[in-house]
Amino acid sequence: MSAPIDLVRADLRDFAGYRSARSDRLVGDVWLNANESAWPNVADDANIVRRYPDPQPEALRTRLATLYGCRPDQLIAGRGSDEAIDLLVRALCMPGQGAIVTTPPTFGMYAVSARLQGARVVEVPLIDDGANFHCDVDAVADAALASRATLVFLCSPGNPTGGAVPLDDVRRLAARLEGRALVVVDEAYQEFAPTPSAVSLLATCPNIVVLRTLSKAHALAGVRLGVAIGDADLIVVLRRCQAPYPLPAPCVALVERALGDGPLSRTEARTRECFGERARLADALRDAPGVRRVYPSVANFLLVRFDDAQVAFDALLSAGVVVRDVRAQPGLDDALRITVGRPDENDRVIAVLAGVFA
Ligand SMILES: *Cc1c(COP(=O)(O)O)cnc(C)c1O
Repeated sequence: MSAPIDLVRADLRDFAGYRSARSDRLVGDVWLNANESAWPNVADDANIVRRYPDPQPEALRTRLATLYGCRPDQLIAGRGSDEAIDLLVRALCMPGQGAIVTTPPTFGMYAVSARLQGARVVEVPLIDDGANFHCDVDAVADAALASRATLVFLCSPGNPTGGAVPLDDVRRLAARLEGRALVVVDEAYQEFAPTPSAVSLLATCPNIVVLRTLSKAHALAGVRLGVAIGDADLIVVLRRCQAPYPLPAPCVALVERALGDGPLSRTEARTRECFGERARLADALRDAPGVRRVYPSVANFLLVRFDDAQVAFDALLSAGVVVRDVRAQPGLDDALRITVGRPDENDRVIAVLAGVFA
């Protein structure tokens, strides 16, 4: 059985990265090794930002590992899952030579990171059967093998489609690509889905990496905290590729508070409220004039096709409601993505759309 680390760029396998002043585990009580200011900034009254932060605070990693059901050494924390995407592409794709596979319509950052690395993007579109989007994992495996791609990005629940890839399909894909590619399952919206996380597959499928984030269900987008979860040796490589002090101390402190006592019940309360509003908004939109289709969603947004998406977008905007125009994505030239808001916000969406095509 080949190790996931064999998929890392050959020229990076023994790359040590930058040795920051915090990476040596030295002990002392007079710290004069990092050229920080010896005097505090008056704005920093709690004295938490005078010094460089711990690159990967152990308490934070342990807390996140508990939250996501993995070991701390299987997890790297970074500036949102966007950074994890970028690290994976940089570590696994040779500049100007590598390739990744994506399944459009999907999240845009996979292609952005690949473009920045000079990696080719091979697209295997999701199949819209009229009711749902499906991922043809055998076609994805064929494309990955044919293009020698080292990364496959699945978004599940999918942004912007709102549908999930069944875990059995993820497992089959990972098995077919073992030793050839990593299967990255971006679970930014997993908290809104009824099915288990792909973290449960890590024990049997070493070439799976799962991305999670605090930006959506945890209501912490501004702290920029996301993680990649996978093979421990691969995580070590990703840490070496990461910028020296990725986690600002005030953000770590806020996350530790937010994930302190009973964090799950608070997140669950928010997601439960979101489920109710998601169902109510979907029902109302299905009845609205000018709406062609509302896709089922296991995320906190709805993908909606309109007779005239431009008219819907403009009407919402002039009522002060900003939604996401996804018409540039393949197969979605009549669609908008609408985040599930608070009840009064959803009422406004429903009222505008009921009026505009009536
Ligand atoms: C929002 C989103 C992200 C970005 O998450 P951050 O942790 O805020 O960087 C990643 N993937 C998908 C599919 C998203 O929709």
